[in-house]
Amino acid sequence: MKLYSTNNPDLTVDFKEAVFNSMPQDKGLYMPDTIKPLDPEFFENIEMCSLEQIAFTVANHILDGAIPADDLKSIVADAINFPAPVVKLDDDTYVLELFHGPSLAFKDFGARFMSRVMGYFMEEGEKMLNVLVATSGDTGGAVALGFLGVENTQVTILYPKGKVSLIQELQLTTNGQNIRAVEVNGTFDDCQALVKQAFTDKDLNEKFRLTSANSINIARLIPQTFYYFNAYAQLKRQGKTDIIFSVPSGNFGNIGAGLLAWKLGLPVKQFIAATNINDTVPQFLETGVYAPKPSVATLSNAMDVGNPSNWVRIMNLFNDDADSLKEVVTAYSYDDGQTADAVNVIFEDYQYVVCPHTAIAWMAIGQYRYDSRDNISTAVFLSTAHPCKFPDVYEGKIKDSVVIPDQVEELLGKPKQSVELGADFEAFKNYLLEG
Ligand SMILES: *Cc1c(COP(=O)(O)O)cnc(C)c1O
Repeated sequence: MKLYSTNNPDLTVDFKEAVFNSMPQDKGLYMPDTIKPLDPEFFENIEMCSLEQIAFTVANHILDGAIPADDLKSIVADAINFPAPVVKLDDDTYVLELFHGPSLAFKDFGARFMSRVMGYFMEEGEKMLNVLVATSGDTGGAVALGFLGVENTQVTILYPKGKVSLIQELQLTTNGQNIRAVEVNGTFDDCQALVKQAFTDKDLNEKFRLTSANSINIARLIPQTFYYFNAYAQLKRQGKTDIIFSVPSGNFGNIGAGLLAWKLGLPVKQFIAATNINDTVPQFLETGVYAPKPSVATLSNAMDVGNPSNWVRIMNLFNDDADSLKEVVTAYSYDDGQTADAVNVIFEDYQYVVCPHTAIAWMAIGQYRYDSRDNISTAVFLSTAHPCKFPDVYEGKIKDSVVIPDQVEELLGKPKQSVELGADFEAFKNYLLEG
């Protein structure tokens, strides 16, 4: 498998290099240089396959030998060890639950697969891989739990003291083993600045092999295709094959993976990109002008992105042609008032609690059906996080209906382990050097 930079198709690297660098020197994004559709036979029999089998077939096809099949099989089995069920709400509306992993968000798919691929590529006798992550909440938990127990890796998570939710903090600070948490007396931006400076520090780079394991890593995108194929398999089992997906979108990695699955042959009629008022992409599809803007805080805060980093990948899949993209992708945006209403309506109609991100994807289905007069397709909206991660959003009956998963109950009993540091670089550097 070769990957090229979206800024320069002539710059190609192998999979291992793309995984460790995350981003090419020219600040483009890595994309696979050939995206061949999967064998039609795979789709004919897909309803007979488990998530693990589907994940392996798809990964092996994309990686095209970059990791030998037997090794890849164990990586996939170890990484994708939780279900992604499609749950029926009514005859033509389903929700794809992606929150059954350790951090209760879909980012577990990407983080777990990437961590195992990195662990696999680390060679005997090599310096230990040091992963530095600054988090404002959700990503850090997925990365921390993704790397937990992975050999030859150590993860340092930096988070702003007092600015993450209780569950998020517990997910960051109760792991032990190869995961440690630094509570920074400052903001998320301070955390990010410390990490950035560490990457350019000579002493640290001599001693450690540093990586950021960040969200644009191609090894996070690939495993996110798996659950689209698996959702299709589950619906095919129920006789449904005319499918549209609605995806709550922020950095557009999730929907980017869906579109990659579509390029690989997955028969999907339409993708809906559902955003909050950070509507750079819906605006672009409407006006043809891509105008990134500063992000605005909303209830669906994991989607507060004004300049989605994966958008270039999506344009690239369509050869930068907005018209052909619009045949497959529709986009809608919603404000917080609409989001809160949707949470209530979904509960009234289906006795089902959604997180605010998921509520946005549900609303977009209704609007798409109305605008396109499509009333024959089966619509699937992706549920990206477990509602218990957003306790402040719910009241009354809905709050009482949120079931706290066992793994969260367990966290509540564990002691917090963290080191408190200021926002100055020297202290952080010494902390890392002293190990
Ligand atoms: C990260 C995240 C999103 C946005 O996903 P992108 O891939 O960035 O578009 C949506 N919902 C939740 C809960 C998330 O954590």
